[in-house]
Amino acid sequence: MPTPVTGKHNLHSLYGYSRPLGVECTACGHRALAFGGRLDDFKGNMRELRTLRFTCSACGSRAWRGWLFVGNEAEAWLEGLTVSPVGGGGPTF
Ligand SMILES: [Zn+2]
Repeated sequence: MPTPVTGKHNLHSLYGYSRPLGVECTACGHRALAFGGRLDDFKGNMRELRTLRFTCSACGSRAWRGWLFVGNEAEAWLEGLTVSPVGGGGPTF
């Protein structure tokens, strides 16, 4: 299962996972992967992931939820094959 981003995760955590950051729009459910080619730049960077700013390309919302992946989880997540454990009963994509 993908790991939900919390206050304990920072850019260095992302570097440690060696996978792109999953960004899910909490307004419309649009999903994307961020920083796939830049992970090496984040070694030692303690900026908290939740303070990053993203704007949804589908609906313009800036409310997002982050996910961390291992193995090939990112690809499955993008295709909507995993169910969010914290979705609050909303539709899954
Ligand atoms: Zn959206």
